[in-house]
Amino acid sequence: MTESASTASPPSFADLGLRAELLGTLTALGYEEPTPIQQQAIPPLLAGRDLLGQAATGTGKTAAFALPVLQQLDGAARDAPLALVLVPTRELAMQVSQAFHRYGRELGARVLPIYGGQPIWRQLKALERGVDVVVATPGRALDHLGRGTLDLGHLEVVILDEADEMLDMGFAEDLEELLAATPEHHQTMLFSATMPPRIGGIARRHLTDPVRITLGGRSAQPSERPLVHQRAYLVRRAHKPAALSRVLDVESPDATLVFCRTRTEVDELTETMNGRGYRAEALHGGMTQDQRDRVMGRLRSETAELLVATDVAARGLDVEHLTHVVNYDVPSAPEAYVHRIGRVGRAGREGVAITLVEPREHRTLQAIERHTGQRIPMEALPTVADLRARRLELTRAALRESLLDDDLDRFRVVVESLSDEFDMMEVALAAVKLAHEAVSGGEDDEEELPEVTLRTDRGGTGTGGGARGGGTGGKGPRGPGGGRRPGSGETARVYVGLGRTAGIRPKDLVGAIANESSVAGREIGAIEITHRFALVEVPAAKADEVIKALRATTIKGRRATVRRDKAEGR
Ligand code: AMP
Repeated sequence: MTESASTASPPSFADLGLRAELLGTLTALGYEEPTPIQQQAIPPLLAGRDLLGQAATGTGKTAAFALPVLQQLDGAARDAPLALVLVPTRELAMQVSQAFHRYGRELGARVLPIYGGQPIWRQLKALERGVDVVVATPGRALDHLGRGTLDLGHLEVVILDEADEMLDMGFAEDLEELLAATPEHHQTMLFSATMPPRIGGIARRHLTDPVRITLGGRSAQPSERPLVHQRAYLVRRAHKPAALSRVLDVESPDATLVFCRTRTEVDELTETMNGRGYRAEALHGGMTQDQRDRVMGRLRSETAELLVATDVAARGLDVEHLTHVVNYDVPSAPEAYVHRIGRVGRAGREGVAITLVEPREHRTLQAIERHTGQRIPMEALPTVADLRARRLELTRAALRESLLDDDLDRFRVVVESLSDEFDMMEVALAAVKLAHEAVSGGEDDEEELPEVTLRTDRGGTGTGGGARGGGTGGKGPRGPGGGRRPGSGETARVYVGLGRTAGIRPKDLVGAIANESSVAGREIGAIEITHRFALVEVPAAKADEVIKALRATTIKGRRATVRRDKAEGR
């Protein structure tokens, strides 16, 4: 393997100054190195600084704030919590609390999630016994504060996680009330995927000289952009092995590099994929040079077709016939994404980069799009029908090759003897069937994969949980080379250069289009709104009309750049 000498090696967890118990736990979890946000946040947090971090889920931000908190645990019995983490939803409360538990296992950290819908007596009991870290939704935390069952008077750390979401959900006043109950001196960390002015206000009032960390933001230069066709599929975690198999079957790549976050994941996925009949090899930082060389040898000789690796292990990797990179998870930082997909865009070669996205990681993917300045279209997973069509195509190609190259004369006697009894076409059909079965094996391994949909726009406030509209740019099924949404006609995607920052919501776009053009609201398809722009699916035949109409009008009082989406028609 060619190791690139230009990449300076990033700091290890030990370099960041974490204590031995935490380092042991991280190794056991298979974390090989800190993610960018961890590298940037942990040292100043250990030094006691406040922090303002712009980072979405999937970047490793939970460990970035949890590890410095856990570092402070001294095993002493505590009457009141040391740290309070406020999060917008009960799911996140459970996730963050589990993360604290996982990272703080060796330190015996006592962590309590507090959210509505859970019996309050259970929370009361735990609070009475004493906890180190409380992870709460603002409403329920306030509830406990009012009852006098939650003592915030001895907090040393307060963390606001997904602060923009909390504001969107109407928790602004609750937050202020909770923060007012905390001691004057404590460390405060605020994380938010976006930084609207209201977040700036909270930061000004509650953070003291904070370290600022922004992930992403810088657009890659055109020359840095590799020749890689990128796309993403929305998949639930439990369906990822099946989704990966489906993608590999449809794409039939020569060699594929699959990225996982941890060593443990690499080992597990390698085993799973071998169990599913792929020739997969693992590559991670825990292997000796000898083992790595053997793996690379098997990939080069095409004995293996799938290399499952961590970022660290794949650094500098250069394999000639590598055509596909799959991100089994959304990478934790845009830089890592660019580095990963660069494994196939080398030396002017073309490649394909596929990312499997869990619904909760959607915002991290958007951060990557902002960073690279490229859209990563979200598509529906290939269906069983797509897979069948692809297999027939492979059989056809194999037959064609044989017709062009092979000496087929010795089979003539078979065909001639059958031609007395059967039509030539029927003979051919039977031969194709046998060839097809030989080329693609049985078809009994086809799993139905449920389609996952996503509401992209979460910018609307005060909708009281009503329909918020929106959807992904690509939830309509897409055949291997065909148009979208069969049955409802061809659609085209229109780019509008105003996004969530400009306060744009789906209904603003629907209103503008329906008022200014002949397109009715119900003819408008998926609407995706990112930070800076929006993509709207409209009937292809009316796209030009819509573009013209939107250029001539204002949306929420602003004029926007409007054009056909450049990612279309790949
Ligand atoms: P978060 O952004 O905190 O939701 O983390 C996303 C995922 O990354 C979680 O599944 C973590 O377990 C994982 N993770 C966090 N830090 C690391 C790391 N340094 N190396 C590998 N995986 C990590």
